[in-house]
Amino acid sequence: MPEAYVTLATNDGYAIGALVLGHSLHSVGTTRDLCILITPQVSQAIKSMLEGVFNKVEVVNVMDSNDTAHLSLLNRPELGVTFTKLHAWKLTCYSKCVFLDADILAVKNSDDLFQQPELSACCDIGWPDCFNSGMFVFVPNMDTYGALLKHAQTVGSFDGGDQGVLNTFFPNWNRVSFVYNMVASATYTYLPAYKQYGSNAKLVHFLGTMKPWQHRYDSQAGQVETSPGYQHLSPFLNSWWAIYVRLVQPGVP
Ligand code: UDP
Ligand code: MN
Repeated sequence: MPEAYVTLATNDGYAIGALVLGHSLHSVGTTRDLCILITPQVSQAIKSMLEGVFNKVEVVNVMDSNDTAHLSLLNRPELGVTFTKLHAWKLTCYSKCVFLDADILAVKNSDDLFQQPELSACCDIGWPDCFNSGMFVFVPNMDTYGALLKHAQTVGSFDGGDQGVLNTFFPNWNRVSFVYNMVASATYTYLPAYKQYGSNAKLVHFLGTMKPWQHRYDSQAGQVETSPGYQHLSPFLNSWWAIYVRLVQPGVP
């Protein structure tokens, strides 16, 4: 059975991020499939572009009334996006997957992650006993999916998002190096470590409210106009925009 990188987009903004992520994975020479979960809110034009980059574009619907497990969650609307991420465990056509948030950029090949067990991830910078759920290695399985849904319903999420649910479900998670989910955000404060190790990053995660596609780009200079607090991220933001301008933007309606 094949293995795949899996991402998620519930709207066109995140789908643009996913397109750049997909191109970046190809450019670092991944040998694995690319799969994206989208909801019907993603426009047809962007969906067609996703089909050009991803091997599989799976439409999932948070309010799918044919799904009994799903129905029982309907009284928990705040878990909407969380639930959508959990759909990834239903991708049983793959033997193993690496989930990546749509706001991640691949800068080096990370295919060795597929040698890691479920659930492997990196420490969260806010509470390092927890893992950050922007990147995790998992094994699609319907039993796990059912158990996760039940867990979401009974235990719930301590942060209202997927990270809270997944951390209490997988308390004995396996830690992999921070280079597989290097958080690039304005609030990251350990700058000496970033200067020492930042160039080893394999997957860069633009966590936080300001996503790469929300920065201003000076097309004349071919550079991102860096906002205060983001200067240290300009090399990665420029890499993100270089892919966007060359490979994604020409197709955006
Ligand atoms: N996401 C989405 N639509 C939304 C919010 C989130 O598709 O409205 C997906 C997307 O893949 C995104 C991930 O869920 O990368 C997690 O959200 P985000 O990256 O914004 O959270 P952060 O990493 O900043 O905590
Ligand atoms: Mn993210």
